[in-house]
Amino acid sequence: MFRIPFDRVNWITSSFLIGTALIALIGAPIYLFNYGIDWFQFGMFFFYLCATMMSITVGYHRLFSHLSFKAKAPVKFFTLMFGACAFENSALNWCSDHRRHHKHVDHDEDPYDISKGFFWAHIGWLLFKLDPETPVDNVGDLRKDKLVMWQHKYTHWIGLVVGLIIPAALGYGYNSLMGLDPMVGALGGFLIAGVTRIVIAQHCTFFINSLCHTVGKQPYSTKHSARDSAIMAFLTFGEGYHNYHHEFQHDYRNGVKPWQWDPSKWTIWTLSKIGLVEGLRRVPDSKILLAEMGEAKRRAVERIDQIKATHGYCQRTAEMLTQLSEKISANYHELEQAVADRVQLSREALQNWQNETRSLMREMSQLARLATA
Ligand SMILES: [Zn+2]
Ligand SMILES: [Zn+2]
Repeated sequence: MFRIPFDRVNWITSSFLIGTALIALIGAPIYLFNYGIDWFQFGMFFFYLCATMMSITVGYHRLFSHLSFKAKAPVKFFTLMFGACAFENSALNWCSDHRRHHKHVDHDEDPYDISKGFFWAHIGWLLFKLDPETPVDNVGDLRKDKLVMWQHKYTHWIGLVVGLIIPAALGYGYNSLMGLDPMVGALGGFLIAGVTRIVIAQHCTFFINSLCHTVGKQPYSTKHSARDSAIMAFLTFGEGYHNYHHEFQHDYRNGVKPWQWDPSKWTIWTLSKIGLVEGLRRVPDSKILLAEMGEAKRRAVERIDQIKATHGYCQRTAEMLTQLSEKISANYHELEQAVADRVQLSREALQNWQNETRSLMREMSQLARLATA
């Protein structure tokens, strides 16, 4: 029977997470019902939500955890300040957990291991401390960064001042200027751009650990539970292409295709054009395609095995399927060799390989239906 392990509850974190959620779910609607929302309050909420989420995705995640690009001090400062406003701990601690997540994904040492269940991966790992404290021993590079260490020391104070007191003060100031009740403005800033924004930003981040390991496709690898989903990308400022990310964690892009929704990638790219960041790391297209073709090859073999396990399958169709699967496999090995030999492959050549793999997989799907019909 399910039993809450009260002796293992992380009381401070739990009180904060539950308290802020209750304020956002009860306090904010009561405020909105009584006073409504003006463009200033809404603008502040929107700015704070984008600044906080971007600081987590661009700063905490892609810059500090994965070193996928290099940033000048203003970018580091901004993302550390607004990252603290998410109340997800300091960048140093966050990155330590996250690097451990990548190293031990889906296993016991993964702090938000999805194999322990959706609830655990989403929020349970924060509410309960089941294991002894893990040492913060995988962020030696970040310990050398003075800004990171300064933020580590004052993270909760920064979050409190920048994330809660400033929006309340701005709400107070705006209402005073407009001849409205300043306390109503202060309360609005605290509840909407402050607490409600924190709760939304936190759960959008937690979704990356829970839903992005549950919902979506696995076009690059099935060796881990991470998945790609456009809906999740929308909710997480581009982090929803998590299958790609776990396969190529040092790439500054998560949505690697031009049409994929990844505002964090667009921000990093734009910052590089104005000289605020540099050294953007990209995985070569040939390696990305090789991963996709490797998955296609695996799925083809799996499908044939399934058909052969079905009672009364059509022998002739199964043979045709095997031929298609062998073609996919041969293409894969040809590309694998080209990548190993560091052959410069043109965009057209890669496109042809991709198109051929897609049409072979389509043919397989059609034949597979006939084989078991
Ligand atoms: Zn993950
Ligand atoms: Zn990551």
